[in-house]
Amino acid sequence: MALSQRITTLTGGGSDGWDLFLKAREMIAAGTPVTELTIGEHDIRTAAPILQEMHASAMGGHTGYAMVPGTDALRDAVALRTSERTGVPTTRDNVLITPGGQSALFAAHAAACDPGDIALFIDPYYATYPGTIRGVSAVPRSIQTRAEDAFQPRAADIAVVAEGATSLLINSPNNPTGTVYSRATLDGIAEVCTSRDLWLISDEVYDTQVWEGQHISPRALPGMAERTFVVGSMSKSHAMTGSRCGWLIGPEAAIANLITFATHTTYGVPGFVQDASAFALSRGTAFEAEIGAPFARRRAIAQRVLAGQNTVGQIPAQGAMYLMLDIRATGMSGDDFADALLEAEHIAVMPGESFGAAAAGHLRVAMTIEDAAFEAALVTLCRFAEARAA
Ligand code: PMP
Repeated sequence: MALSQRITTLTGGGSDGWDLFLKAREMIAAGTPVTELTIGEHDIRTAAPILQEMHASAMGGHTGYAMVPGTDALRDAVALRTSERTGVPTTRDNVLITPGGQSALFAAHAAACDPGDIALFIDPYYATYPGTIRGVSAVPRSIQTRAEDAFQPRAADIAVVAEGATSLLINSPNNPTGTVYSRATLDGIAEVCTSRDLWLISDEVYDTQVWEGQHISPRALPGMAERTFVVGSMSKSHAMTGSRCGWLIGPEAAIANLITFATHTTYGVPGFVQDASAFALSRGTAFEAEIGAPFARRRAIAQRVLAGQNTVGQIPAQGAMYLMLDIRATGMSGDDFADALLEAEHIAVMPGESFGAAAAGHLRVAMTIEDAAFEAALVTLCRFAEARAA
């Protein structure tokens, strides 16, 4: 039986860049110890009090169908957090609870784009972006950023392709680059969106992990609330990746339609997960800082290690749990370097190319292992690069 174009061409063919990740997994399965710096997941598990709340909720009977838009308590908690942190008045009618940020990305594009519409996104990008856009039968079109701009998008580059497009997807703090968009960058983006009548889809799942600069939600910029969807998640801020709980914030009319969409796609998020999430949010910013602290610490370690050599360059890593390293001085591609490093040193990092052409000659290093092992891996990586450059 024939399958739909939509499903069979979702990844756009070609390599999706995960070859190295799979190769590292194979080596580990075969008994070779590999230092794993590929995946964006904390090296801690969900905190016990959150799990206790989840358990109590389930034991208390919250195991049936939950309200499709999300529980009132969680929608209110997300709305309050958003109002307080961005200054944009937000109520539960602006909030749809989703099974993770990924589902919110899909819902936002489904709301913004009709089949065949052009949906813009910024390169380098989080791996699922083009496939998410294809998943709603829209057409992905990337906008390249530049290493010399620390991967901050230029409004003029967006304007060039904005004519005739329907939406623009951005992500700050950024995976894979660690870049936090400046006020000037966001003002430029807002100007293009309003003048070209684009929906802005702002992926802010790393909003609690900012090490330099300030997280600004573009929904708070003049005229943007009516054309902006914000994607949020418990995954990164509260180390709850496996709980699959996130949200989409948008204009009330859009959220009303998206609730109908959720009825016909996800049918909501488990009630006990939502209760645990509302509890986790009630623990406030101090808890979020605790979850982010290991990444801030390892970023400082990385800056110290990198300061002692001249071969590997670093993009400032202003936020999120990644370092973007520039290894162009070795003359190698990110793909070749990552492959050789895995073979020779048993260290697995992601080639920049797997996040788009703009990150060619770079590596993404996840700061997701214990400090001493992280430092040792970076020292080895730098020595390896120096030997290659020589
Ligand atoms: N956006 C970005 C930029 C991400 O890195 C991730 C997870 N790696 C997601 C969205 C989706 O996360 P989740 O579905 O777990 O909320």
